[in-house]
Amino acid sequence: MNGLVWFRRDLRVNDHFALSQALQACQHVWCVFVFDTEILDALPSRSDRRVEFIQGALEELHANLGKLSPAGHLIVLQGPAREAIPWLAQQLHCQTVYINRDFEPSAIDRDQEVERSLKSSGIGLEQSLDHVIFPPEALRTAAGSGYTVFSPYRNAWLKRLTSSHLTSHPVLPFSAALAPWPTELRATPENLHGPWRGPPSLAAIGFEPTNLKVLGIQPGEAAAQALLESFVQRIGDYRRHRDFPAIRGPSYLSVHLRFGTISIRQLVQTALHIQQTDAEASDGATSWLAELIWRDFYVQILANWPHVTRSAFKPDYDHIRFANDEAAEARFLAWTEARTGFPLVDAAIAQIRHSGWMHNRLRMVTASFLIKDLGIHWSRGERWFADQLLDFDLSANNGGWQWASSSGCDAQPYFRIFNPITQSEKFDPDGRFIRRYLPQLASLPTKALHAPWLASVETLQAAGIELGTTYPHPIVDHAQARLTTLERYAVVRSRSA
Ligand SMILES: Cc1cc2nc3c(=O)[nH]c(=O)nc-3n(C[C@H](O)[C@H](O)[C@H](O)COP(=O)(O)OP(=O)(O)OC[C@H]3O[C@@H](n4cnc5c(N)ncnc54)[C@H](O)[C@@H]3O)c2cc1C
Repeated sequence: MNGLVWFRRDLRVNDHFALSQALQACQHVWCVFVFDTEILDALPSRSDRRVEFIQGALEELHANLGKLSPAGHLIVLQGPAREAIPWLAQQLHCQTVYINRDFEPSAIDRDQEVERSLKSSGIGLEQSLDHVIFPPEALRTAAGSGYTVFSPYRNAWLKRLTSSHLTSHPVLPFSAALAPWPTELRATPENLHGPWRGPPSLAAIGFEPTNLKVLGIQPGEAAAQALLESFVQRIGDYRRHRDFPAIRGPSYLSVHLRFGTISIRQLVQTALHIQQTDAEASDGATSWLAELIWRDFYVQILANWPHVTRSAFKPDYDHIRFANDEAAEARFLAWTEARTGFPLVDAAIAQIRHSGWMHNRLRMVTASFLIKDLGIHWSRGERWFADQLLDFDLSANNGGWQWASSSGCDAQPYFRIFNPITQSEKFDPDGRFIRRYLPQLASLPTKALHAPWLASVETLQAAGIELGTTYPHPIVDHAQARLTTLERYAVVRSRSA
């Protein structure tokens, strides 16, 4: 039996369900990654941290396959994956292609087409569960639907969890089945580039380097394990520290979960182990485990209610009329360029622009600010984040934006509107985060840092700040914007009355 393992968002060799399955079922197993031009061509820039992260992760994956067996290697192609996979599977005379399930609507569509195409050549497609602990169809309410509220979902998730859900899928014991580089590959069709033995350079696939290396962000499994090890040392403080962007509180593992350079099973096991064995760190581990469950929760929301990618989870919220005139466009631009005049918001936007990552508290604050202070439709922010985030994940990003706009399942109530100044005072009390990302404000005393327009002329002058020149005036009055938003959202109240 010949098998082909198609890597996608699972770029590792440890605890890899599909690879383990294939190696146990087949005598000859090849591994492939496709730089899918349907995805690459839609990216807004030829310099994209995600592409660089993937390229780096593939270097390591290729090397790790070589360590598992002298024959081991990664075949890399560039082109539409819908065509590349059936072509390669035929060339290698495979009986089965192995994948880990992807739950995003466009991936499901792609995989179904690949399955049909493979089937027409008598090849099977075997799908495994690797990305989440429970697939979207597993946990059901008493009424038989998916969960729309997090707490009961988390309770059901914890209740159903057994050791079998966390069993690791080993690869090493079966690695003798890794097949050598195929010698009989015919020339690739016109729209496919490669095959390469291991990943080609960024330039070879039409991309340029980003600042990923300067940022110290390391792709791959080893880097993910190092981050986990360092996080485990401070997990006990997670609950206390997680909301403060100037503190090294969270795990920073999101990009690794996004590209599967670490296994979700390993992370859940780690959290449970600490919860059960380390009384001091138990609280933090419980809190972090809840975040991993939020991840599963939003994956099942997206899979069970795929309309969320086009409209509000709660349809009434589609009747809200957001601002879309020229002035709104100017406000949107100011938000994306860190020119709102609200330091915490601008510092957060500066963080995402510089690094492709933004602290969770600030994702909530900036999303709320765009929607409820600037009056702009959540989907504009969702799209912009999708372009910026290194850890961009459709389900979590959509879930986060719909939460902030109150249109999502289990979202914050529409009348809860973050005050960007009190959020700043509370979560960046000494202004360390703001000073780091907005050096032009660094000399302002902390008291004045959260709302510089309230500072005296002397204070501003002493700090070398001229509002409107070195730093913008606030683009909205929060109190007024709050009232406008409550009016705007009144349509929801009247429809559900
Ligand atoms: C508007 C908005 C947009 C977001 N967009 C994304 C996104 O595109 N990709 C993404 O991974 N997360 C997103 N999040 C969730 C969260 O902000 C990030 O997962 C987190 O900041 C990543 O940092 P970390 O790995 O250090 O998190 P930790 O605090 O260490 O959490 C561990 C892991 O749990 C998961 N997680 C944590 N919080 C959430 C959450 N609220 N929803 C779903 N999963 C969660 C992530 O996989 C994360 O890596 C978004 C949140 C908001 C409010």
